[in-house]
Amino acid sequence: MQEGIKDTLVFDMKDLRHEDFKEYEVLVPPASLSLNYEEAEFIKPLSCTVQLFRQGDDNVYVTADIETEISVECRRCITPFAVDIATKLELLFSMSRESPEESEADERYYDGETVDISEDVRQMLVLEIPAWALCSETCEGLCPECGAELNSDGCSCERVDTSPAQASNPFSVLSKMLEDN
Ligand SMILES: [Zn+2]
Ligand SMILES: [Zn+2]
Repeated sequence: MQEGIKDTLVFDMKDLRHEDFKEYEVLVPPASLSLNYEEAEFIKPLSCTVQLFRQGDDNVYVTADIETEISVECRRCITPFAVDIATKLELLFSMSRESPEESEADERYYDGETVDISEDVRQMLVLEIPAWALCSETCEGLCPECGAELNSDGCSCERVDTSPAQASNPFSVLSKMLEDN
């Protein structure tokens, strides 16, 4: 049964008291989860589908699918671009600290009243921020001489191959000769 769209990842267990299963659509503004990072700007609300299953009297099994969009800077050409990111989590909330039964899900303790997955969602999303973002695999980046963006502008600098030219270095030939003797 759908309950309309929520804007928080905190769930009141009173709503689950007489049911075993509930699904929520949640739209969370990124600022409310303190998703403020220099390397990635969260530019859309988090779109979440959250399912709560009651197990026994007190245990609540929670699954959440989260999608959003971030803006990151290309590491080569420093142009910001948008990336879709998504994550998924499975948690088991129980009221006693002893684990109720073997479970694949990460276990959390709760007071029986409210289940809060905000911090878990925040941590999972941070892991999805790409560490080395490229606007394209073939991004040519910036000219090391004049800083022009080579993808669109190009420039007329002579770019020398900076890889060491062993063969043309007379000293490397000399040291090779010395080694051989
Ligand atoms: Zn780029
Ligand atoms: Zn240049």
